[in-house]
Amino acid sequence: MPMKTPDEYLERLKQMKPNIYIGGERVGRDDPRLRPGINVICKTFEQAQNPKYDGLMTATSHLTGEKINRFTHVNQSPEDLLKKQQMIRIYCRMTGGCIQRCMGCDAINALSVVTYELDQEYGTDYYDRFLKFLRYFQENDLVAACAQTDVKGNRVLRPHQQADPDLYVRIVEKRSDGIVVKGAKNHITVAAYADELIVVPTRAMTEKDADWAVSFAIPADTEGVKLITRATSPRPRKKFKAPYCEYGIGDSFVIFDDVFVPWDRVFMCGEWRYAGRLAALFALYHRHSYCGCKPAFTDVLLGAAVLVSDYNGILDRPHVRRRLVDMACTAELVYAAGVASAMYSEKAGSGTCIPNMVYANIGRRHAGLHIYEEYDIVAELAGGLPATLPFEEEFINPETAKYLEKYIMRRADVPAENVHRCFRLISDMICSAYAGVFQVAGVHGGGSPIMEEIAVSQSYDFEEKKKIAEYLAGTRKEFPG
Ligand SMILES: Cc1cc2nc3c(=O)[nH]c(=O)nc-3n(C[C@H](O)[C@H](O)[C@H](O)COP(=O)(O)OP(=O)(O)OC[C@H]3O[C@@H](n4cnc5c(N)ncnc54)[C@H](O)[C@@H]3O)c2cc1C
Repeated sequence: MPMKTPDEYLERLKQMKPNIYIGGERVGRDDPRLRPGINVICKTFEQAQNPKYDGLMTATSHLTGEKINRFTHVNQSPEDLLKKQQMIRIYCRMTGGCIQRCMGCDAINALSVVTYELDQEYGTDYYDRFLKFLRYFQENDLVAACAQTDVKGNRVLRPHQQADPDLYVRIVEKRSDGIVVKGAKNHITVAAYADELIVVPTRAMTEKDADWAVSFAIPADTEGVKLITRATSPRPRKKFKAPYCEYGIGDSFVIFDDVFVPWDRVFMCGEWRYAGRLAALFALYHRHSYCGCKPAFTDVLLGAAVLVSDYNGILDRPHVRRRLVDMACTAELVYAAGVASAMYSEKAGSGTCIPNMVYANIGRRHAGLHIYEEYDIVAELAGGLPATLPFEEEFINPETAKYLEKYIMRRADVPAENVHRCFRLISDMICSAYAGVFQVAGVHGGGSPIMEEIAVSQSYDFEEKKKIAEYLAGTRKEFPG
């Protein structure tokens, strides 16, 4: 049965070797600090079994014809891309944050395109290796991190120019049975509770960078892999428990300390001409996924803004409506860009559907430009209380609770507990370490803003627009298009 349950996933994690470092100690995947992130991933197993989401959280494998978790699927059609985007929006609404499992999904999609192209160009057998891996990935309903972002050292130098060659992950040895790799990737989401790490290059390479043009997949507890992890979640609650606080995120520095990778897990080995193609394609799939998750982030912030405005009695005031409309426009424009990207997708040689480059990048860029504005709107409408809200204990201690319940009141028909819960949610959402991670993720996740600008600049048809102006100015006879 290719569809696994949350318990089966948890059992797999239990079997893995402890190679995670948090808070000064080496820990296993049962460490409670990882649990909020693991809860997010459990949701993706749980809801795939929910009949309500049949065909949305699930897909049909193009390899086996079996029903699989959509996060293990390689997109075959525009409809698949749309469903992935829609699925991600629903999951991020359910958990109030990043669903994380898209990383591996976006990586297998990019690899399904590039391994095929590599074989066409070089007569290699990467695509067969990839399909073997994909079958195993789907049959076992695996979770993968995508380790793309190298630590990169001096940002303006290429891998081979760095003072330390390990600042980009590289091949240090080629053996008859596989390769040995060394280096580090950073910021890697879900790595600490993923089954597999899928490694892809972070940038285009030159001939001299061939040793750094490498892609592979390995179990996350492979000998020599160390995951130095920062796990973040909302402050745990004692009494006023809420779904938002059950979830969290873990991001890791992934160290490859002379790690052996068998040949059947190697998907690129020195073909430097395709490093940029693979880097850009993973980023493209991931930015398309962002067109699903970022609108959900806005949905969650917008929901909180509406709720607090309602409790404050200001919901129908014109300046409030305007700010709410601002947020709705951001969410839906980003989502619409993802829909357009899916509708204008193209088939690669392997049959995989590739989202449209321009629309996915425009969507991701638009989301990034507005991220702090969204937090600004929630803060504006909530007032200062998210920042100064007394700790939960003071709402439990009867000596102080009676005062807080009296003086936290807004509209007389809204009970004090609802007002308290609303402000505690907003405090977690905009005024916590957890909020800080998502703000920076909103800027850099999926690539820094300049990367989306470069992608648009390279793929947008500016020449066509010039021809339109020439036509209208009377210097060109034919209307272009
Ligand atoms: C919460 C979070 C989760 C993430 N998850 C993942 C993940 O799961 N997997 C993954 O692979 N990555 C992940 N990332 C990494 C993300 O893709 C990177 O943060 C992003 O690509 C920027 O890289 P950087 O952090 O190294 O910043 P830098 O590249 O150092 O960027 C800093 C600034 O320098 C500029 N800059 C960089 N290089 C140059 C240059 N050559 N010339 C001029 N300017 C330059 C950039 O434009 C930017 O303004 C995650 C990031 C965050 C914040």
